[in-house]
Amino acid sequence: MTVEAYMEACNSYYYATRDPLGARGDFVTAPEISQMFGEMIGAALADSWMRAGSPADAIYAELGPGRGTLASDALRVLRGAWFSGAVHLVETSPVLREAQEEALPGAHWHESIEDLPAKPLLLVANEFLDALPVRQFVDSVERRVLFAAGGLAFDRDGEIVETSPVRDEAVSTIATCLTAMGGVAFFIDYGHERSHPGDTLQAVRGHRFAPVLTSPGEQDLTCHVDFEALGRAAQDAGATVTRLVSQGEWLKRLGIETRARSLEQSNPDKADSVHVALNRLIGTEEMGKLFKVIAIHSPAWPVPLGFQ
Ligand code: SAH
Repeated sequence: MTVEAYMEACNSYYYATRDPLGARGDFVTAPEISQMFGEMIGAALADSWMRAGSPADAIYAELGPGRGTLASDALRVLRGAWFSGAVHLVETSPVLREAQEEALPGAHWHESIEDLPAKPLLLVANEFLDALPVRQFVDSVERRVLFAAGGLAFDRDGEIVETSPVRDEAVSTIATCLTAMGGVAFFIDYGHERSHPGDTLQAVRGHRFAPVLTSPGEQDLTCHVDFEALGRAAQDAGATVTRLVSQGEWLKRLGIETRARSLEQSNPDKADSVHVALNRLIGTEEMGKLFKVIAIHSPAWPVPLGFQ
């Protein structure tokens, strides 16, 4: 099968059968580190929404919301800014949907991005695009996974070029809705600013890298996001694309350090853990530089905070 089909099959099974997040799972994501992450995103969404005239039909939407932690932190801030729109989640995993139902009572769930309602969107996708399947090519020939000598192997090696039609399609669908209806979308992931060759397929299990062809469906498979391709897909659909900013820089511009100080002052016994969490989110040796943020928005909406 193609690498794309392999990644698709492995991740469908993987996410359908477990909650992979947290210390006892396979990996930890930014919203699970601290409430500050979702709060900053909620504040940035609230700011865009208010500057666009607070359209009453706007909805909060999230792609692959994990345990629903980011959404509940962001919505606390949005509700405080008098946003009363509905919550729409795109999630295929029944296990994670259950966790989301607990965190976000009254939300609406969808199997696919195409099923989101045609409304102005306040959309977030954190570590979602990296889980979508990529195609790999060696000398323009698509790379495949074979069953050989009792195990799995790649059919060819060499300089690898990756593309992700599934990812492009996802971004294009969101961008088309933003262009027609208004709204803004934040995509946060690790990846590269410019398209270039390279094999970025990796597997993580129990917080460690693992060989990608062992234990299919039992480990998290991801690829780096090609932000140049993402921007192209969004622009082709008529949306405006911001520049790419590192997660650390973006969160600092949104005021995460001020938020951390206020949390430390109101919970002196938790000051150490707030400080550690802040550093994990913005530190250049931690997630601050590796993870990047890009926004796409309706041409009729303002440039969101932190990208000017
Ligand atoms: N955003 C969350 C979780 C990231 S893990 C966080 O930051 O904590 C990836 C998420 O995307 C999971 O919720 C997973 O179930 C979901 N997912 C993966 N592939 C998907 C697909 N094709 N369609 C919808 N959701 C998907």
